[in-house]
Amino acid sequence: MRIHHLNCGTSCPWGGRLFDGQSRGLVHGHIVCHCLLIETDRGLVLVDTGFGRKDVARHERLAGFFRALNQPQLRERETAAAQIRALGFDPGDVRHIVVTHLDFDHAGGLEDFPNATVHLTAREKEVADAQQGGPFVGVRRYRPGQWDEVKDWSLYPMGRGEPWFGFDCVRDLAGLPPEILLVPLAGHTWGHSGVAIDTGSGWLMYVGDAYFHHGEIGQEVRHCPPGMRFYQWMMEVDRSARLGNQQRLRQLSLDHAGEVTLFCAHDRTEFERQAPLSRAVPRSLTRRAA
Ligand SMILES: [Zn+2]
Repeated sequence: MRIHHLNCGTSCPWGGRLFDGQSRGLVHGHIVCHCLLIETDRGLVLVDTGFGRKDVARHERLAGFFRALNQPQLRERETAAAQIRALGFDPGDVRHIVVTHLDFDHAGGLEDFPNATVHLTAREKEVADAQQGGPFVGVRRYRPGQWDEVKDWSLYPMGRGEPWFGFDCVRDLAGLPPEILLVPLAGHTWGHSGVAIDTGSGWLMYVGDAYFHHGEIGQEVRHCPPGMRFYQWMMEVDRSARLGNQQRLRQLSLDHAGEVTLFCAHDRTEFERQAPLSRAVPRSLTRRAA
């Protein structure tokens, strides 16, 4: 198994340092859409898709509210499809996509991979189709046009799974290698989950949007810049589930630091730690946000 870390969507949200805790100014922040491409003996597996080619072609696929707030850069070369081609593969060879949830910044690339089965929790598919993700953001976060052409879904129940470091997980994802697990982590959305990967030399735990900033794990006391704190509050559907799962992840990061490496979808520091040679973060944006 070989794992590639891809940034499938740079965004420059308003607030700068107040949003991401590290940009120099207070105008534009800098966040990523951290996705994974896994080479397996069952073909290519993509974990989350960021923004897709159709989002780049038609910005109105995304809600105006989030385009204005998050300032997604929507560049063709940052799409998973373009980066997979740049790695020498064909997007048609992506057989499976595991998606943490169906928010617009995770599901945008689903239709760029017509031969893929899409794996996620049944609950997430149900609430996303109904656009039930909060009174104001529900119809803006979930954009069914991003997935209405997906032909093959593989849906899993939340809970009642096998244990994984104290979490429930789904171990047997249909057609996927047993090293890839789905770990339900509700709170940000009703059917949100993380993806755990046994690399053979430790676990990678991709938590999606279960937390947003690297300071939220790895230490007893949570640190999160005010902008990201606000964004998480605005997007949550179940506060106690979200904070409870975040606490469990923080504890996992402390108790099993040598065994499990956690990272989330949007933290630039974690992405650069995992993918130091990645060409996916445009230099101009890095300079602006440095
Ligand atoms: Zn997100």
